[in-house]
Amino acid sequence: MTATIIDGKAFAARVRGQVAEHVARLKADHDIIPGLAVVLVGEDPASQVYVRSKGRMTVEVGMNSFEHKLEADTSETDLLNLIQKLNNDPQVNGILVQLPLPGHLDEDLVINTIAPEKDVDGFHISNVGLLGTGQKSMVPCTPLGCLMMLREHHGSLSGKEAVVIGRSNIVGKPMAQLLLGDSCTVTIAHSRTRDLPEVVRRADIVVAAVGRPQMVPGDWIKPGATVIDVGINRIDKVDGGTRLVGDADYDSCAATAGAITPVPGGVGPMTIACLLANTLTATCRANNINEPENLTA
Ligand code: NAD
Repeated sequence: MTATIIDGKAFAARVRGQVAEHVARLKADHDIIPGLAVVLVGEDPASQVYVRSKGRMTVEVGMNSFEHKLEADTSETDLLNLIQKLNNDPQVNGILVQLPLPGHLDEDLVINTIAPEKDVDGFHISNVGLLGTGQKSMVPCTPLGCLMMLREHHGSLSGKEAVVIGRSNIVGKPMAQLLLGDSCTVTIAHSRTRDLPEVVRRADIVVAAVGRPQMVPGDWIKPGATVIDVGINRIDKVDGGTRLVGDADYDSCAATAGAITPVPGGVGPMTIACLLANTLTATCRANNINEPENLTA
């Protein structure tokens, strides 16, 4: 079997197009422009790249982008004060604090200071609880992007066996909650799981979110299963330089799977598209305007 490639880049462009249409309508009908504030503390090069592309895409869909760059030694009090200011700013509908933060800052405290309704990353403890109890919440962007791709590919996910490899708070756990919400039978596998290959072999849907290059080989994949590869790992090429690979061994998995997301060009582009979708959702909720249903969980 040769797997269908789930083109996350094209899907993300469509999602951004839909967000842009809704943003234009919000402006025309309600004179509202959604605003996303991104806070970056320090000069981590990867974070700077992410923040730049988030800002560019925010503006491209017609939203306001507010970037706050703080020194690496910014005090916790100053950061919390900035978040409170953004919480109270009616121009700001979404707040994202770029992680990781420098070691002297308490990440949990910082995230939980964001107003839950503006927490477009979906990491605030209230949103985690709402998602866990099946209530309307802000949903973490990467798992939301995975869910959108799975729904588009399969239609209904009801009754499917799903195995999520990885139990992090930002990917694995919320992914499992979302799949459960769509009535999958969900297993969360992790570093202590016994006989991981056998666990993965029973899955109709495999979501790999481990951070270990190419660790899932094709012979773990049930023929015809869907593989969603969240991993982003940089490895050395044999002829020099580096390249990005996922947590799945793409070639062998693509030979067995029914569908697979490539790395790059799969889950990655969906993450920023979902951040913009979440900012739109937050804006609609803040203004009691119906939110677009297909852009959230
Ligand atoms: P993490 O390090 O927080 O969690 C990794 C999880 O994998 C842990 O729960 C651990 O139990 C599990 N694990 C580790 N070794 C294992 C093993 N041998 N067998 C089974 N499970 C094992 O990582 P994370 O933040 O969840 O990210 C996972 C990957 O996804 C990373 O490569 C990261 O770069 C990538 N990522 C991509 C996006 C995106 O936009 N595409 C977003 C977030 C994370």
